[in-house]
This record gives sequence, C-alpha cells and structure tokens, in this order.
Amino acid sequence: MIRFHNTYTRRKDEFQPLVQGEVRMYTCGPTVYDYAHIGNFRAYVWEDLLRRYLKARGFQVTQVMNITDVDDKTIRGSVLAGVTLDEYTEKYIQAFFEDLDALDVERAEHYPRATRHIPEMVDLIQKLMQQGNAYESKGSIYFRLDSFPPYGRLAGLDREGMIANFRVDSDEYEKSDVRDFVLWKGHREGEPFWETTLGRGRPGWHIECSAMSMRYLGESFDIHTGGSDNIFPHHENEIAQSEAATGKPFVRTWMHCAHLVVNGEKMSKSAGNFFTLRDLLQRGYDPRAIRYLLVSQHYRKPINFTLDGIAWAASNLNRLGDCLRRLDACAGVGENEILTDATRRTRQEFYDSMDDDLNSAAALGFIFELVREINSAADRSEVPERNAVELHRLFTEVSAVFGLRLGAAPALDQELEALVSRREELRRKKQFKEADAIRDQLLGLGIVLEDTPEGVRWKKRT
Ligand SMILES: [Zn+2]
Repeated sequence: MIRFHNTYTRRKDEFQPLVQGEVRMYTCGPTVYDYAHIGNFRAYVWEDLLRRYLKARGFQVTQVMNITDVDDKTIRGSVLAGVTLDEYTEKYIQAFFEDLDALDVERAEHYPRATRHIPEMVDLIQKLMQQGNAYESKGSIYFRLDSFPPYGRLAGLDREGMIANFRVDSDEYEKSDVRDFVLWKGHREGEPFWETTLGRGRPGWHIECSAMSMRYLGESFDIHTGGSDNIFPHHENEIAQSEAATGKPFVRTWMHCAHLVVNGEKMSKSAGNFFTLRDLLQRGYDPRAIRYLLVSQHYRKPINFTLDGIAWAASNLNRLGDCLRRLDACAGVGENEILTDATRRTRQEFYDSMDDDLNSAAALGFIFELVREINSAADRSEVPERNAVELHRLFTEVSAVFGLRLGAAPALDQELEALVSRREELRRKKQFKEADAIRDQLLGLGIVLEDTPEGVRWKKRT
C-alpha cells in the first residue's frame, strides 16, 4: 500500500488513482525570466523521484509541467532587454531543459506554455463570470472569493474575517492579502496583450495552471505537486478557480516539498549564497552528486544545502559505485544464504520506506547497510555469482528510482579536486611546466581540463 502525505487532508492517505494503473499528475513549472536556482531544482528533482517511483510500482504516469512565459517578471525582463516576450523567454526555456538533462530529470509528457493556451484560460474565465464567481472592474477580471466557501482549506486559513473587501492585482502575495484575486489583467501601456472576448489584456498567473492542467489531465486528476511556497496563494487559487467552474473535486492528492536553505540561511542574491545549477557545474561539481544530495533527504524536510554536502553526496555515490564494481568481479558457485536473506530483506525495506510517503532517506539507509554486508562478504571472497546477480538487480532498481546512473564513471573526488586547484595555483604563479604536468596526470585519469574566462572547467574524457 502506497501512502502519501496529502496537504489537503493533513495526513498520510492511501494512494489510489482515479483510473486503476494510471497516474495523472501536474507539477508547477518554472517562470522563465532567469536561470533556475538550486532551490527550484529541489522541487523538480523530487517530483522526478515521485514520477520514477510511481513507474517502478507499475503505474503509467502522465505528467504535465507548465512553463510560465508570461507574468509580471517575464514582462519586466523583456522590456528591460528590449526584446519581445518570446525572444526573452526562449533562452531561459532552453536553459531549463539543459539543466533538467544535467540532473537526469526524466521528461514529463507535456510542457504547455502559458502563451500558447490563452483560449483555454479565456474560456475558463468566461465560465466563472457566467456563474457569478468572477466580475470585471476597470478592464480587469477578478475571482469573487465570497462565492467559494471552501476557500482557504488547503492552506489551513481561518477564513472568518480574513477576506477583506478589496482586490489584489499582483501574482504573488502574502497570507494577509486574502482578497479577490486577478484572473485577467486589462491592458496596460507597454505590456504584451491578447485581443479576446474578455477584452484586450493578459492572463494572471494562477489561472494558467487551472486551465492547462484541466486541458491535459481532465477536470479531476490524481496528484498536484509543488514547493510549499506554492500552497498559498497559488494552489489555493487553483482550487477555487477549478472547482467553482466545474463543481467537481479538482485534485485528489496535493503534495508539497519543503524549502531549501544554503548554509542555514535563506538563499538570496544579496547574501551571496545564491546558486544556479550553472554556477555549481562551472565550478566543477558533479551534477550526479547534486542530484543525490537533493533526493537523499525526505521531501517534506527542509534541506540545508552546502558545498560540503555535495562532497558528502559524491562520496556516497562512489561507495555505491565501488560496491557495484566489486559485484561485477564476483565469481564462484554456490550461494551465500545470509546474503540472499539480507538482499531479500533490504529490497522489502527499500520499497516499504518508499511506499511510506517516499521516505528516500530511510530507503537509502537500508541500502547502505547492505553495502556494508556486501563489502565484508566480498573481503572474505564470499559473494558467489548467484548472489552477485541478485544484488546487481536490486542496485539497478534503486538506481532507476533515484536516477543515479550507478555504474557510470565515478564523480570527481577530493583528491582530483585538489589536483585541479593545485594546477590553478601553479598557473597563477606562472609555473607552467609544473602546471602542465598536473594536466597530463589528470588526463591519464580520464579528466580533461578546459581553461575558460570564468576559470578552469573539467569534464570526463569520452
Ligand atoms: Zn502552478
């Protein structure tokens, strides 16, 4: 039995999809006004873990992730850059997919872009107006909070007395602003607009996720995910818009991951602890280690992201990879029954942990206990081929669920890292002969260095 923590019911519920064997899932995607940062990737990588696990448990998954390519921030960016909205967002859409590939995030089935689904949003808003859930004021259209009594349930708001008789126009706002929110923004000078039956204007942020999720997944679907900062107002508003329009329950299971901090502090550009994935890759960090760090913690616990944490993740990955390579070398007939039992037990513990609200930290803990047992058996040459094959099968399953590509070349370890920085130091001192010797030494280890204006980069020789 799979149980997921449902934000809506505030408990772990047994997971049962609406259609047996199929899971329809929507995940809030990026706003493409800049490169995504490591906090964003915590959510995308966790959602990938969820997707991979559901597939491993035999479900056919249809996942939709929206691309927000029109909102206050993208418009501001394109105006500042002096290019069209499409020209501006294209660069960040490409970058987003490159980053997903670097982190081995599987592709969703659909990546709808907001600007390509304006008619669906207009239809939905029109329906809300006809039913009295929305009204027009000075060219913009607002959702009438009073018309939807369950409002606030997802976020656990005390609704009584909170709903002020005002309106809010911005896409993001605080809990103190529980007010009628904007669905359609009337045209303002210098902003892109669409000519529609609602008048000239553009959609607000919230309506896009209701319109596009229902377009691809139907009026009711199984799972909606996001970061916990999406709960209010974004997801609360999605529920109001969708359920008011259809009269049906919108989503069965709401799942949210906790936030990420860097060195114990909230990430911010001014504090100098703001990392995009690109920053980290340029500094030579292995994307697989970053992925491991993100998936190895339980999704509902905050992650404290540190550079030491990446090194810790890399060494854990290497331990798994080394163990797998030892298994490849195992030979001999017969069976080690203790190891057979341990393998069977660990497989069970792994799936039980993941079934229990995707407890990845516990699941990996059991795997590492097994690694210790394998290593000590291998030290005594007590891993017959039959056991090795079975263990290999388990590692392959774990690797597929966590997206770890175990068995691929090991991550750049600390010793190599030290060589790279030693060489840089020598180059700064203009001791080129010594520096070149280190470069050749690294080449011998399969590491190619590239000197770029941003500093040295490395990659594995292919
Ligand atoms: Zn959304």
